[in-house]
Amino acid sequence: MQFEEGRLLKEFTTFGIGGPAQYFIEVSSICALQEVIRFCHDKKLRYFVLGKGSNSLFSDQGYQGVIILNKIRFLEEKEGEFHVGAGYSFSLLGSQTARKGWEGLEFASGIPGSVGGAVFMNAGASGSEAFKTLTEVTFVNETGEVEILAKSALIWGYRHTCFHERKGAIAAARFQLKSSLEARKKQLSLIDYRTKTQPYSDLSAGCVFRNTPSVSAGKLIQECGLKGYSIGGAQVSSMHANFIVNKQSATAADVLNLAHYVQKTVHQKTGHFLEMEIRVIPYN
Ligand SMILES: Cc1cc2nc3c(=O)[nH]c(=O)nc-3n(C[C@H](O)[C@H](O)[C@H](O)COP(=O)(O)OP(=O)(O)OC[C@H]3O[C@@H](n4cnc5c(N)ncnc54)[C@H](O)[C@@H]3O)c2cc1C
Repeated sequence: MQFEEGRLLKEFTTFGIGGPAQYFIEVSSICALQEVIRFCHDKKLRYFVLGKGSNSLFSDQGYQGVIILNKIRFLEEKEGEFHVGAGYSFSLLGSQTARKGWEGLEFASGIPGSVGGAVFMNAGASGSEAFKTLTEVTFVNETGEVEILAKSALIWGYRHTCFHERKGAIAAARFQLKSSLEARKKQLSLIDYRTKTQPYSDLSAGCVFRNTPSVSAGKLIQECGLKGYSIGGAQVSSMHANFIVNKQSATAADVLNLAHYVQKTVHQKTGHFLEMEIRVIPYN
């Protein structure tokens, strides 16, 4: 095992924010992932499993413990059943499956996360979500053992899964898709809509807040006149109000101060409390 010290986490997040990791290691096989998790467990080391860093906000101080960068990237396919390593690009999986005429993951195209991150978050868009076609997860538990978990053994909801409450890591996932002549057309129209409505050329971590049961967070933020509002280098996107973008070398503190300002303003003006969707990872 080769641990590196001091790798800057801003290089591994789509926000471009985050200080140094105390220890950093890449894993590209399930065995390597087991070995690192077992090691952390034995040495009582804190760790964080990182996919593509597209939903994570690390502290400017960095992370005290081990960052495990998941690069398990295999892809096996058999008659619409896709068995995929957790480090595989979720967006690529969405476009590849649609291009081959398989329906169910078209919405994934354009979500810049890993398969592991998408399963952990139950990522979704346009009325669909990762758990809709998921059938099984290969999980490395906190002592480094592999568990094969059928979907029926899992709990999930809107941007939340039982993995939030478990130590360990998602190593692979299995999806069952249906044959469809419309899949590619649907995927292309979804990606077209995405690029027209979301600030893709800016650094961000996607939607900052969860939608409320009755109204979208973006609508509430926009109605409060907060589009374009900024603190330090962080700005509420003028394209999509539920995105905070890193405009000018923003710090994690800038993003959090702005997010708290948005929460306070929306609560005062509308009575709705917005909960954070992005994962905020403290230094220790
Ligand atoms: C431009 C843009 C658009 C986006 N659009 C959408 C959208 O439409 N819908 C949506 O749902 N999200 C969207 N997102 C957010 C993000 O892409 C998703 O939440 C994605 O699933 C996160 O995957 P990741 O690999 O980047 O996760 P990371 O940011 O690396 O990690 C997120 C969380 O998942 C955990 N995690 C990651 N991999 C594993 C693993 N293998 N095992 C255990 N835990 C793991 C991490 O520990 C962390 O808690 C968008 C983000 C951006 C920047």
